[in-house]
Amino acid sequence: MNGCVRSDLCPMRMIVAGNWKMNKDSAEATALIAALKVLSVPEGVEVIVAPAFPFLAAAVDQLAGSSILVAAQDCHEKSHGAYTGAVSVPMLKSVGVKACIVGHSERRQYFGETDKVVGLKIAALLEHGLTPIYCCGESQEERVGGRHFEVVTNQLKTALGALNSEQLSRVVIAYEPVWAIGTGLTATSEQAQEMHAHIRELLSAHGSEVAKRVPILYGGSCKPDNAAELFANRDVNGGLIGGASLDAPQFGELIRLAGQA
Ligand code: PEP
Repeated sequence: MNGCVRSDLCPMRMIVAGNWKMNKDSAEATALIAALKVLSVPEGVEVIVAPAFPFLAAAVDQLAGSSILVAAQDCHEKSHGAYTGAVSVPMLKSVGVKACIVGHSERRQYFGETDKVVGLKIAALLEHGLTPIYCCGESQEERVGGRHFEVVTNQLKTALGALNSEQLSRVVIAYEPVWAIGTGLTATSEQAQEMHAHIRELLSAHGSEVAKRVPILYGGSCKPDNAAELFANRDVNGGLIGGASLDAPQFGELIRLAGQA
């Protein structure tokens, strides 16, 4: 892990994580990884890419010798068994995957994933030494109704509430307002900072060390033209990037901006 270069107030390193979602075939994935592998990664920035399941093992092999880590986009909470179509954490670990996105709003919307299940997935990931990248965030309706803090508080309590401080300190949180994902709408810098500070405050119930250690990423139409402002916030420790992670120059620019934050 690279060291933090921001300030004493900086809780952690900066992380730029690319969620490719259901995009890229084998040849395209290989080409994108090749382009990412030659990007220069500034000191203090950690880069993660999350291709689709079929390409994870190849991505790990291709990125050998680089500092870029490979994450999955989901996992099953059980380690093995009759769960047709599912992929377990030990399976991911066996091919060199280091992290896994869980609780993404698209998993919640299209696959009925709840924070209760997500909590089990997080426990499985931590048990096997993988880093959960836990996504939380309110819908447009909840934001308009002024319930965004309450919604995110409840998500965190349900998904992370059973973890002890040591386990919690190994989690990465991604605040992704649902209304900003893939829509071109972005939370303002102030909206992002105030929610990240709120999440950090919730984490501080487990002690100031935990609150400092857990990176909180922003996700939702984060692009080179808005990232500098978002990343400059004290409690924003990088980004979970969807659309812009599919293009090496754009993703490279986000990595560069994270290095300047
Ligand atoms: C995401 O899906 O996690 C995401 C942030 O997507 P986008 O950047 O495309 O809004």
